[in-house]
Amino acid sequence: MRLVLLGPPGAGKGTQARMLQDKLQAPQVASGDLLRAAVRNQTVLGLQAKAFMDSGALVPDELVLGMIEERLNQPDADSGFILDGFPRTVAQAEVLGQILAGRNERLDKVVAITVPDEEIVKRISGRRTCRSCGAMYHMSYEPPRKTGVCNDCGGELYQRDDDAENTVRSRLQVYASATKPLLDYYGNAGILAQIDGIGRPEEIERRIRSAAGID
Ligand code: AMP
Repeated sequence: MRLVLLGPPGAGKGTQARMLQDKLQAPQVASGDLLRAAVRNQTVLGLQAKAFMDSGALVPDELVLGMIEERLNQPDADSGFILDGFPRTVAQAEVLGQILAGRNERLDKVVAITVPDEEIVKRISGRRTCRSCGAMYHMSYEPPRKTGVCNDCGGELYQRDDDAENTVRSRLQVYASATKPLLDYYGNAGILAQIDGIGRPEEIERRIRSAAGID
């Protein structure tokens, strides 16, 4: 299945994409994770992308599109993928459509996860991410067993620079102006489903599976 998870930062796209990977036998392709890896590895792409990411702005298309195409061309994405954080603009969605058309493929479903802004700010400012495996925790709602240490891999937990409250508010504005138009774009294409993103992760996963027809 070729699935896109849409939604503001902190809607739970990453958590859900990771939960769905096994069931769908398709990898999570998270543009934010790929960009953070590039920053960590100090690649040319990472060095160019970092300032945009730190300020909560979108990284320019000429940096993001090649990176995504390269990732989708890897063999594990041959028969499906779960896109998380991409596309983020109508222009990106159009390029994605062209990439897939060139492979005789198309998206099966776009599921938009809806969460109110104030809930997002609460979620993200308490969020901690594992430097090694990307697992996420919340200091109040889902703390790790040992403070500052990932339950899964023992990696160090940190707060992303762009998870600070004022940057989260800028990211929400960017979402509203640049990404929300995708709801109409995919709505018009007849492949959009919207689900309520408030609830336990297992409950949200059930809603996504039912919206996308995954059994
Ligand atoms: P995320 O982890 O999806 O919240 O992304 C973190 C940051 O990476 C965003 O605030 C953007 O600066 C950048 N980013 C991730 N995906 C994209 C994309 N599809 N287009 C442009 N910038 C992106």
